[in-house]
Amino acid sequence: MPAAFIGHGSPMNAIEQNRYTESWRALGATMPRPRAIVVVSAHWYINATAVTAMPRPRTIHDFYGFPPELFAVDYPAQGAPEVAAELAEIVKPTWVGMDEDSWGLDHGTWSVLAHMFPQADIPVVQLSINGVKPFDYHLELGAKLASLRDSGVLVVGSGNVVHNLGGIDWRLTDTGFDWAQRFDEAAKEAMTSDPDAVLRLQNSPDFRAAVPTPDHFIPLLYLAGLAGASGRPADVLVDGYAYGSLSMTAYTLDLPGAGAHGSGPAGELPQDVPPDATNV
Ligand code: ZN
Repeated sequence: MPAAFIGHGSPMNAIEQNRYTESWRALGATMPRPRAIVVVSAHWYINATAVTAMPRPRTIHDFYGFPPELFAVDYPAQGAPEVAAELAEIVKPTWVGMDEDSWGLDHGTWSVLAHMFPQADIPVVQLSINGVKPFDYHLELGAKLASLRDSGVLVVGSGNVVHNLGGIDWRLTDTGFDWAQRFDEAAKEAMTSDPDAVLRLQNSPDFRAAVPTPDHFIPLLYLAGLAGASGRPADVLVDGYAYGSLSMTAYTLDLPGAGAHGSGPAGELPQDVPPDATNV
């Protein structure tokens, strides 16, 4: 089973169509059908490692100031308590809590899966980000999830490589600041050649601007860990910038044919971008 990291951007991507959401849709349509999906979302950032273990996770609208259509979105995928238990078993001795009733599916998960798997007919488990752990914990935990892939589980990290909300400039619709582009390119270099090297991005002079808080960056470490475990680098699914301080870059691992057409500069991406596409 392939694995992926998706730069999810604005919650509005859940109900909009643009070149990013089209790439997510194409990804879901071309990969083998997973038996379940495990998502590491930037928006479940807590002080413990936990998985959603309820049979029917609720759709969480964890944002404010957006139109009613977005609050009306429901992503009624079932949970997969058996996959949650399997995950807890394979990552031992790392401890994973079973969340039976507190979380559900947040917009980091459903804004992406609404495009990848619009039928919502594949069970979904979320794995929390343990915010008190260092980056190498997440890389190693990602690597431990490799055996789930062997049994048909899709692992997806959902965040943004560059995510500085304080730096947003609404006039720069499809543009990244120089520091954002430098950091995103450095991440791309690591992910597509030596995924373990993403840990060294912490030493980049652009790190503090690109990653002012670690929540949206850490999901990338899970794909880096899986890539390291497989011995193969990741491929770029789609790339680009939004509002100066966000990168929308997404990666896949072991997606058949991805190396041929999946990576390349933004100029090679589909040209049929709707003029009103907004991506934050
Ligand atoms: Zn987000």
